[in-house]
Amino acid sequence: MSRQGVAILGSTGSVGASTLDVVTALPDRFEVVALAAGSNTKMLQEQIERVRPRYAALACGESLDGVKRIDTDDPLTSIALLDEVDIVVVATTGHAALPATIAALEAGKIVALANKETIVAGGALVMPIADRHPGNLRPVDSEHSAIWQCLPGGRFDDRSVRRILMTASGGPFRGMSAEQLRHVTVHQALDHPTWSMGSRITIDSATLMNKGFELIEAAWLFHCPIDRITIVIHPQSIVHSMVEFNDGNIIAQLGSHDMRLPIQYALTYPDRPAGCGKRLTLDAMAKLTFEEPDFEAFPAPEIARAAARLGGLYPAVLSKADELAVAAFLDGQISFPAITEIVQHALDAFEPGTTEVTLEAIAETDDWTTRFVAASLASGVR
Ligand code: MG
Repeated sequence: MSRQGVAILGSTGSVGASTLDVVTALPDRFEVVALAAGSNTKMLQEQIERVRPRYAALACGESLDGVKRIDTDDPLTSIALLDEVDIVVVATTGHAALPATIAALEAGKIVALANKETIVAGGALVMPIADRHPGNLRPVDSEHSAIWQCLPGGRFDDRSVRRILMTASGGPFRGMSAEQLRHVTVHQALDHPTWSMGSRITIDSATLMNKGFELIEAAWLFHCPIDRITIVIHPQSIVHSMVEFNDGNIIAQLGSHDMRLPIQYALTYPDRPAGCGKRLTLDAMAKLTFEEPDFEAFPAPEIARAAARLGGLYPAVLSKADELAVAAFLDGQISFPAITEIVQHALDAFEPGTTEVTLEAIAETDDWTTRFVAASLASGVR
């Protein structure tokens, strides 16, 4: 078998770095062709020296050595379309990689998708193209990888499936009341009990907004009605999701909380070679608990579900408003509950000019949301 060329968009993030582990552990199958990063020049330069890709892109202006730099208007798309690239791993944050994702799918390439916002905001754009290339859009998120592995044919079918049970660790503040959450600090919110991830997604996990995005993403990826997905709190993060069938059978996927497992499955599908992911021990499986979420203290998943029901550009407002509100929280400007309050206010105030989801409409919605959140912050929301 000839080696597949891999491009990693967002190589210096947590998923990007884990992807490099997976790819370099399987040198007979994969070759790293291109890396792209935002501003972590030092780490990108180290990665270039370690894996010797032919191409690299860096959003900030600093220089890079020992690599052909891609410096087009949209370097992510240029990389995705390189002849040598067979698999594009999308591990950036925000809406930046949406055009690259669409271009890669249209060109018949495999896209391993770790960026939720791409589907949350652009599901209506991405999925019709993905559906024309079955098997090419592969989820990297642990829950979606689990559902993909449990759901026959990777597609929701009313005749056999009752619902999808999506697990959530509950984050560091599980069990706290809405009042207690008023006083939590940035430091506490960044201390996730099971997963080690970037700061945006760690805060999103603490508010459970991450689960809200995952709901919307799962609905798109598996063609599942949003109300057929139930969130279950599972603090051990061992069962990554389950599918309940009409006859009462449930299929669950288990694994250690190591992102290298779902990343590798997305890259090697349908094969399952031994790789570098951590194996699950019997000990870790000894105690698995499940409970219902407290949506009063953690309203984010239901806010997301409501945005999905409204459809159109509302999910784009949801994801952009959350990105900005999380940044304001990390910056010490607002309290923890204000993150979801700002998101709710933005959704309430939004008046879509169109229901048609296009790249331009998403960009305009991003701009509107940015102005709205800035005005909320300026008006003294705490
Ligand atoms: Mg996840």
